[in-house]
Amino acid sequence: MPVKNRFAELLPEITEWRRDLHEHPEILFETHRTSAVVAEKLKAFGCDEIVTGIGRTGVVGVIKGKTDTSGKVVGLRADMDALPIHEATGLEYASKTDGAMHACGHDGHTAMLLGAAKYLSETRNFDGTVVVIFQPAEEGGGGGREMCEDGMMKRFGIQEVYGMHNWPGLPVGSFAIRPGAFFAATDQFDITIEGKGGHAAKPQETVDSTLVAAHVVTALQSIASRNADPVDQVVVSVTSIESSSKAFNVIAQRVELKGTVRTMSTEMRDLAETRMKAICEGTASAFGAKAEVTYYRGYPCMVNHEEQTEFAAEVAGSVAGACEDAPLVMGGEDFAYMLEERPGAYILVGNGDTASVHHPEYNFNDDAIPAGCSWWAEIVEKRMPVH
Ligand SMILES: [Zn+2]
Ligand SMILES: [Zn+2]
Repeated sequence: MPVKNRFAELLPEITEWRRDLHEHPEILFETHRTSAVVAEKLKAFGCDEIVTGIGRTGVVGVIKGKTDTSGKVVGLRADMDALPIHEATGLEYASKTDGAMHACGHDGHTAMLLGAAKYLSETRNFDGTVVVIFQPAEEGGGGGREMCEDGMMKRFGIQEVYGMHNWPGLPVGSFAIRPGAFFAATDQFDITIEGKGGHAAKPQETVDSTLVAAHVVTALQSIASRNADPVDQVVVSVTSIESSSKAFNVIAQRVELKGTVRTMSTEMRDLAETRMKAICEGTASAFGAKAEVTYYRGYPCMVNHEEQTEFAAEVAGSVAGACEDAPLVMGGEDFAYMLEERPGAYILVGNGDTASVHHPEYNFNDDAIPAGCSWWAEIVEKRMPVH
């Protein structure tokens, strides 16, 4: 298997970095220690330029190849943040921070990109420039968006950009990818239904907001089943219902609903938002109540570019022997913002038979490190070959 020999040698060291990061998880933009560790290592590797504080706590490193006749600049991105989960793995290197945990494997992503940066700084066996991007706040904070808003792409002259995520259920050392829409747009909504509260034994004197809410929850499912083209994807999930009444004999004045909408295209996203407002307002009005919908647009749909996806799959094939076709993922990924600014591709690397990401017993699989690092290195050496 053509995993680069150097990464087999570096495996114990990279594993040590990964476990240290695992022990010290940091949430959202609070990746102060992690960012410092990353910057310090990039410096020790001999990176040509290291810039901190991009996208608040993001870190960028520049590595120049032996030559630069191609004028190409390739960006490689890893995420650094953890989740607000209490770890239940029982590992000897489990989180030392209560209520924070690397439950999405971003410790592994950071360690693998550091491993690749070390190798690329040592060998420089490419004709062009590599920009390694370490972003905070992937888990809902939009760290990728903030790095882009800080002008990262232009400042470092990045021409195309690549990303990677570990994937439980996919065999260790294997890869999967798909062109086009890959990860969903992740939106949130708040719905407030205002009725008229009163005595539970005198419903005729009230406008029962709970009854209205029940109809709204049911009717919202018609977006997916009746409004959307059946071959397209949309998820509408009401995940929280809170009534202003806490008593068995009081009809609530107000009910608040929360939830999420996941879509794979702008058209479907627009449709879901429009229909949600119409259904809520229309249903409430039919019962004599009022509904107010606040719709928050989160991460956009993450779309892999055709040419770079084909290249990424080819590289994965050279590392692992083959590259599988990945399914659509209804989760979100803020690498979407980077792919909106530059062509590129995002790939999945197998994490084996482990608990799913965001589970308190999840752990990144260190056996995936050689394959992941090799993919990064090969992306660079094959995209910008030395003549
Ligand atoms: Zn995650
Ligand atoms: Zn993740």
